[in-house]
Amino acid sequence: MFHPYSLYLHIPFCRHRCSYCDFNTYAGLGQLVPDYVAALAREIEIVAAAAGTRLPAHTIFLGGGTPSLLPAESIERILRALADAFDFQPGMEITLEANPGTVSADYLKALRGLGVNRLSLGAQSSHSMELALLERQHDYVDVIRAVGWARQAGFDNLSLDLIFGLPGQTSASWGETLSRAVNLNPEHLSLYALTIEPGTPLQSWVGRGLLIAPDDDLAADMYELASEKLAAAGFLQYEISNWAKPAADSHLSATASPAFASRHNLQYWRNRPYLGFGAGAHGYANNMRTANVLHPAEYISRLQPGGDNSLPFPRSPAIGQLTPVDRAAEIAETMMMGLRLTREGVSDRAFTARFGESLRAVFAPQITRLIGLGLLEWAGPDNDVLRLTDRGRLLGNQVFVEFV
Ligand code: SF4
Repeated sequence: MFHPYSLYLHIPFCRHRCSYCDFNTYAGLGQLVPDYVAALAREIEIVAAAAGTRLPAHTIFLGGGTPSLLPAESIERILRALADAFDFQPGMEITLEANPGTVSADYLKALRGLGVNRLSLGAQSSHSMELALLERQHDYVDVIRAVGWARQAGFDNLSLDLIFGLPGQTSASWGETLSRAVNLNPEHLSLYALTIEPGTPLQSWVGRGLLIAPDDDLAADMYELASEKLAAAGFLQYEISNWAKPAADSHLSATASPAFASRHNLQYWRNRPYLGFGAGAHGYANNMRTANVLHPAEYISRLQPGGDNSLPFPRSPAIGQLTPVDRAAEIAETMMMGLRLTREGVSDRAFTARFGESLRAVFAPQITRLIGLGLLEWAGPDNDVLRLTDRGRLLGNQVFVEFV
């Protein structure tokens, strides 16, 4: 079956590293941006040429790091390199992640003019104390302004990221953040539970007793509060951490993702092919998972003109790791990712078409056990879709591990 590609571009630059962040991103390397953008354009050209045919692409995601630190001219250069190399499908989704403190009305207008049609704003919280604890470089007023400017620029697909389970956060403060976010009327919301990552300042503060580690039970209550509030506000949950609005006139089936779901991220959850460009970017194509070298300086040096450009698709000169994906791994990954989709789940029909065997047959004991525990259910008019129950959403990891 024909599946267009998704394209991920990693922009590993930030003004400051937030206290909880363990992403592949660097503060103080802004001087590398021009060379980095040139290296990205080169990597796109080399990998696409190695495919031997003009690959179709239907989503682009500029993530980070802080892609909104790049000047509009750099975004233009990257998008031009992609348009030269790939066959853009009609209705292409082009998302850019932005830090609300880094954008202006003119910048957002320029992005929209370049074809960026989805903006993902890292709002995180509406409370100054919580933003300060996270060492975010913006305040909630910046979020309000950024949303207004985005609407003026013509963005009709906006997403906000929020974090819950912060040290000292209460259900009341989380409820306020949710209400304020809903009042901004975004089309999409991503809600992440804070995890305290090794090596981060936040971990050190908790380790020294300066902050109380977030309580798992309270975080679970916050998740349930979010589910209730967002459902009441007309959002549909379509993934463990993601909610979106349906189209105004839609008659959506109970097992379909809503219109404003992130199509780029659906590609990951459906375990379909994508190419990752940039430092530390990951890809999945031709039964291989790829991961590029992490540091932007090494990435740039790997893509100097005159290097070895004759690698077979999907290898890039910047590749750091290549992992073959055999059939068993593909099946396990399809289940683990597909079950994150709380409406779509994993369709037995699609599974059978992909793997030549029925999901019911391959995982009969696991499915029986997990349905018995109330964690999975068959859904849809002909019971074709296996998905998490409401209870299963809270215990997803317990379910996923059964399919590995
Ligand atoms: S802005 Fe995002 S990527 Fe950058 S340091 Fe903060 S959390 Fe990490």
